[in-house]
Amino acid sequence: VIRHLEYLGPMSTRGGWRPDPSYPEIAFVGRSNVGKSSLLNKLMKRKAFARVSNTPGRTREIHFFDVNKQFVLADLPGYGYARISKERKAEWRPLIEGFLTDSPRLWGVVQLLDVRHDPSPDDMVMLDFLAQLGVPTIFAVTKVDKLRKAEVAPRIQALAAQLRLDPDQIVPFSATTGAGRDELAAALMELLAM
Ligand code: GDP
Repeated sequence: VIRHLEYLGPMSTRGGWRPDPSYPEIAFVGRSNVGKSSLLNKLMKRKAFARVSNTPGRTREIHFFDVNKQFVLADLPGYGYARISKERKAEWRPLIEGFLTDSPRLWGVVQLLDVRHDPSPDDMVMLDFLAQLGVPTIFAVTKVDKLRKAEVAPRIQALAAQLRLDPDQIVPFSATTGAGRDELAAALMELLAM
């Protein structure tokens, strides 16, 4: 249950300000258009994320939210957008990787994948980076409403095999139907209790 949700502010590609590391942080990562804002809106039952994070010009920043004065949610910029230039990519990687590396209170990461697509090279780079960092990672597979019900479980199995994960590490999610919302919230609470 979200009792308190407060937008704390952005951290730009140039670094600078970031919240005090007095709370555990949980970061959300995924390629552009994977459904991250929709997932966060559904998870928090608020519209704050679409408003802040998808404002043009603000998509290259990390946005921080205080959730229940219990943890800081870090909404990282979407990666792997075909239209972004090499220079943009060159500034994106140090921002993301620097942030994830220099977060003493990073408790965990939620990596999002679209159920209809095989993991992209960028997804694999992120997955390997998080594994090397040794940070607990939850995989949320978005837009499962786009498949027929009977197709979901085999698709999750196939994705798990591709990613070399246990299917239990994957939470199937739909922002449209709300499927997986409670499972994802429970997985986050479990992370925070660790
Ligand atoms: P972001 O760029 O990762 O923040 O992605 P958005 O949340 O903005 O979503 C990208 C597109 O996917 C939008 O057109 C959404 O309406 C759509 N979308 C997001 N989540 C879902 C979902 O669970 N089901 C379906 N059918 N569409 C979704």
